[in-house]
Amino acid sequence: MVERQLRRRGIDDERVLTAMAEVPREKFVPREMSDRAYADGALPIGEDQTISQPWIVARMVVLLELEGPERVLEVGTGSGYGAAVLSRCCSHVVTVERIPALSERARGALAGLGYRNVEVRTGNGAAGAADRAPFDAIVVTAAAGKGPPEALSEQLVPGGALVCPVEREGDERLVRIRDGQVEHIAAVRFVPLVEGGP
Ligand code: SAH
Repeated sequence: MVERQLRRRGIDDERVLTAMAEVPREKFVPREMSDRAYADGALPIGEDQTISQPWIVARMVVLLELEGPERVLEVGTGSGYGAAVLSRCCSHVVTVERIPALSERARGALAGLGYRNVEVRTGNGAAGAADRAPFDAIVVTAAAGKGPPEALSEQLVPGGALVCPVEREGDERLVRIRDGQVEHIAAVRFVPLVEGGP
C-alpha cells in the first residue's frame, strides 16, 4: 500500500508514510471486509459511512505539515483510522464523531492498539472542541456545504492549517485554509458533514 498507493503517487512525507505503514488498517474495517482493508479505495463501515481511501487519508495528513509536537482536531472520526494515523504524527488528537455507534467502535479499536494520545468524543464536530482549543491543525473528513464551520477557524492557532472538503458549484474539493488564505488542493468525494448536531 505504501509503495504502490502512496509513494508512487507523490506522498513523500516520511513521518506520514511511516504512520501509514505502522497503523493496522484491518483493525478499523468491519471483520467481513478485512481481506480488502488495504484496497485502493474507501470501504463501508456501517451507519452509511465509509473509511476513506488510504491515499486520501495520507494526503490530508501531509497537508497539515505536522512535525510532532502539535495538537490536532479531527472532525468525523468514522472508523478511527484517520485519527490513528494522525496520532502517530503529532502529540495529541481530539476526534469528534456524531454517530455514537461509530465513536464507540473507534474508541475500542484505538484502545486495543494502545494509542493513548487520541481522545474520541461523541457529538457535533462542526462545533469543534472549544474546551480543548486552540489546535495547531484541524482536519474535517466530511464535506462541508458552505465552507468549513466557523467555530473551527476560531479554535485554530494563528498560522494553523484547516483542511476540509467543501462543496463548490456542484463539485467537491479539498481546500487548505491558513490565516484566511484558501488553497484548492484536489477534487474529492466525501460523505456530507451533518451540521446541526447528532
Ligand atoms: N476519518 C474517517 C472517515 C470518516 S467519514 C476514517 O478514517 O474512517 C466521515 C465521518 O464524519 C462519518 O463517520 C460521519 O458520521 C461523520 N460526521 C458527519 N458530520 C459530522 C459532524 N457534524 N460531527 C461529527 N462527525 C460528523
